[in-house]
Amino acid sequence: MKTLSPWKISYDFFDPQTEGLRETLCTLGNGYFATRGAAPEVQASRYHYPGTYVAGLYNKLSTHLAGETVTNEDLVNCPNWLFMTFRVNNGEWFYPSTANIRSFLQILDFHNGILYRRCVFKNRKGEQTLIESNRIVHMAEPHLGAMKYTLTPLNYSGLITVNTILDGSIINSGVERYRQLKSRHWKPITLGTINKNGMFLSMITNQSRIELTQATTIKLFSKDKELKVNIKNLIKERKIVGILGQQVKFFVNKKQAYHLEKTVAIYTSKDGVKDHIQEACKKVHNSPRFDILLRSHKRAWKKLWNRVDIQIEGDTFSQKVIRFHMFHLLQSASLNNCEIDAGLPARGWHGEAYRGHIFWDNLFSMPFFNLHLPEISKSLLLYRYRRLPQAIKNASQNGYQGAMFPWQSGSTGEEETQTLHLNPLSGEWGPDYSCLQRHVSFAIFYNFYEYWNVTGDSIFLAKYGAEVMLSIAQFAASLAKYDTNDKRYHTEGIMGPDEFHEMLPRSQKPGLRDNAYSNLFIVWILLKSRKLLGILAPEERERIVKKIKLKKEDIDHWNDIIKKMSLIINKQGIISQFEGYLALKELNWSYYKKKYRRINRMDRILKAEGKSPDEFKVAKQADVLMIFFVFTFAEVREMMTNMGYRLSLKMMRKNYDYYIKRTSHGSTLSMVVHCFLSQKIRKYKEAWSFFMEVLDSDIYDIQGGTTAEGIHTGVMSGSIDIVLTAFAGINTRGKKLRIDPRLPKNWKSIKTHFIYRGNWIFYHLKGEKLTLAIEKKARKTSFIPLKVRGKAYDLMPGQILRVNIKNAK
Ligand code: BGC
Repeated sequence: MKTLSPWKISYDFFDPQTEGLRETLCTLGNGYFATRGAAPEVQASRYHYPGTYVAGLYNKLSTHLAGETVTNEDLVNCPNWLFMTFRVNNGEWFYPSTANIRSFLQILDFHNGILYRRCVFKNRKGEQTLIESNRIVHMAEPHLGAMKYTLTPLNYSGLITVNTILDGSIINSGVERYRQLKSRHWKPITLGTINKNGMFLSMITNQSRIELTQATTIKLFSKDKELKVNIKNLIKERKIVGILGQQVKFFVNKKQAYHLEKTVAIYTSKDGVKDHIQEACKKVHNSPRFDILLRSHKRAWKKLWNRVDIQIEGDTFSQKVIRFHMFHLLQSASLNNCEIDAGLPARGWHGEAYRGHIFWDNLFSMPFFNLHLPEISKSLLLYRYRRLPQAIKNASQNGYQGAMFPWQSGSTGEEETQTLHLNPLSGEWGPDYSCLQRHVSFAIFYNFYEYWNVTGDSIFLAKYGAEVMLSIAQFAASLAKYDTNDKRYHTEGIMGPDEFHEMLPRSQKPGLRDNAYSNLFIVWILLKSRKLLGILAPEERERIVKKIKLKKEDIDHWNDIIKKMSLIINKQGIISQFEGYLALKELNWSYYKKKYRRINRMDRILKAEGKSPDEFKVAKQADVLMIFFVFTFAEVREMMTNMGYRLSLKMMRKNYDYYIKRTSHGSTLSMVVHCFLSQKIRKYKEAWSFFMEVLDSDIYDIQGGTTAEGIHTGVMSGSIDIVLTAFAGINTRGKKLRIDPRLPKNWKSIKTHFIYRGNWIFYHLKGEKLTLAIEKKARKTSFIPLKVRGKAYDLMPGQILRVNIKNAK
């Protein structure tokens, strides 16, 4: 990854081996659909994986495997609209992985959302062609994508033949681990041509019965004039599998540029249009030239950057990667999402890992959206609200009350976690219990709560949030069982975020007892739910309480749980991750590090050695420490005191030191949490090194191959949260806004703005000088009470507050 520009990443050579990673990193999307940054001239192969995904478009397939039938719901790879290649006279067709490429440059410009590629191809006859392509997925026209493909003959005049294809023969084969599973999701419905220079392909998924149409046009321009050329259709050949193509032949003059513009319109039967075929054909037919589309696309991006940008002085690398992360988040959940029912998947719409499912990772993503684009937060929360009835079913099917959201969520809100999991190291399939991570519902509660806390949107709270939150509270309470022996509440049969521990060694019963993070979260949820009942207007409260059948005795029960929930803490003050954790064996870390070098996925290594991670004190990611990531120290102390336990700062630090030594960081989320915590306990060097890992996670694919299968939206959002909360010190958690900055040593200044309780607040920290201001025309409030380094201020609209911050660096 090259270039010093803080708005671009570029590659100056073509490398088939790392194409998969580049394709993910160069994906373009607009929240409605995304297209991987694959070269236009390729089909799926060992090196390339062109993929187009429509947000929320899933399909289920069943496969017989290891004596069982397993059913998986996948984010479906849609027909490849990009395909285009050419040849000169009778020379060979241009395919990047086999071609003689004389020079190469690829640039992702994330300020404008453009993927540019420039290369010179020399064919076997010595004819050299300069190929330039610009590609967009339109941010303001969610159904449109376009590519301008420019050919300039450098040392010849002659005949060029271009083939352009709409390829519906694609399958889902982007993730090697899933290749034993069924992968053909589409059946063609119909295909045809539009007005000589266009074609369309309509397909239907074989289980979810979602219909999709892609329509493309191709136009040729030179010297700013459209050239009328004969277009030959290549339709008939592959009707059965859904491939159709068009061929354009034209004579070219040496050194003259010829621009082929391919535009696509995508519609599905989920879009609420009468006829998606007609709609797609009409849209693409009426669409203007590439350069005009580009102008409106750039304007849309400019508006977005005006809302979200963070300017960091003194560190070009961090600046660039932070913007790169925001870019991908905005391509995964954009303002276009407000019109569609899709969540934010853990791996974006950038690849097929985790099948496009939505996890608890939104806990890490919501702060970014809450502070800059709360409309998007709202739409992500509505994705959950619409699945509340299913969550209620999930809870009752599992013997609980209230609403239990699935660990992996797709189209319906049913549990989509696979039941069998392939260990790529051993090649064996084993049971997958990760769905026992009930804390996903707690994270959803938290997201609704924080959205309300940051935005002050009481209407949304009353209409949607409160019902979801109180239903989750009912579920949380039903997880806690009273034990008359120790007079405490306990949970069992569940897992914390550390997925390496699924059960106790030699136990036959999946799940664990008293996961500390889950137990404390339950207490927090019940406390906030009590508060929530007090906040709601009486008529709203009555409506919801009646609807979810919440009784007075339930609240008494909650009060009891709040006081008597169990935690296991040893004499040294270490909070046990779950009952039995402290008695597990220690892992020989130095032995494994020496033997395997990369030991992030210790679970796979141990399983391949015939051992189980359940036997060892080895965590995939923060689990106990999540407590101090999610809640403030004061909150945790108060909860623990009420429960009859002690907590001191010293104890928090001790727990940090204890668990960090026993964590392999098998999830990129782990780096985010540990960065935050090390900053919190003033281990600044450690925080910086975790931050660097957070930034490297996707651009350098530090988990060894996972980014090629999709970005990690959790770590990307986490990086922004670190910058805003841990470094710039903008803390919205709690009643009042608190500002407590501590910038990394090399950062000279940081400038941004964010929306808090309906008001835009400008923030600029340069050295030790902090400047804060609320926009003049603030509507929502007369002033914002806030604390800077613990000192209270009331910030008035239009007022500029200047504070000198000691140790801001
Ligand atoms: C992590 C989970 C995460 C999931 C999706 C897993 O590797 O352990 O915490 O939700 O990836 O990102």
